[in-house]
Amino acid sequence: DFDREIKVVVLGNGGVGKTSMIRRFCKGIFTDEYKKTIGVDFLEKAQFVDALQEEVRFMLWDTAGQEEFDAITRTYYRGAGAAVIAFSTTDLDSFKAVPSWREKINAECGDIAMCLVQNKVDLIDRAVVTPEEVEALARQLGLKLYRTCVKENINVTEVFGYLAELHHKK
Ligand code: GDP
Repeated sequence: DFDREIKVVVLGNGGVGKTSMIRRFCKGIFTDEYKKTIGVDFLEKAQFVDALQEEVRFMLWDTAGQEEFDAITRTYYRGAGAAVIAFSTTDLDSFKAVPSWREKINAECGDIAMCLVQNKVDLIDRAVVTPEEVEALARQLGLKLYRTCVKENINVTEVFGYLAELHHKK
């Protein structure tokens, strides 16, 4: 038996595509322009996970821009069973920040299910990191790497399916 409900926190620097990823997964939409969630803590999505042969209810928590001020509250992390650490293909600072995001998650949540997400792979022509550098970081941190394009809905469902499976194994 396992939890059919999982809180997932989506972390990473501002602008990497966290809100877009949550909206894509939960609502099936992508828009370039929208207001940041105000007064909304999380979105929910029930999704059948092949590896578990079960439907899992995901509760996805968005930092709603708070990461800009390094002011993510305890409430945000509380009860999280899994975390996405995201960076953008075109933002070197967001890549460099990955290890510190991982430390923060470990400090707040302990050893929860996590994975590394390189988003915006549609902009690979403007990449500021090589595939080898990204793979080396993933290996060094012991995280599975997913390359996503939230814009074109590539690999997004896979990220959450993997996290549910890993969470179940822990
Ligand atoms: P957040 O600050 O991490 O929540 O990032 P947002 O979700 O607000 O996204 C920042 C910008 O990146 C927005 O203009 C998005 O439309 C854009 N974006 C998100 N995902 C992708 C993607 O896969 N490809 C491209 N080209 N743009 C993306």
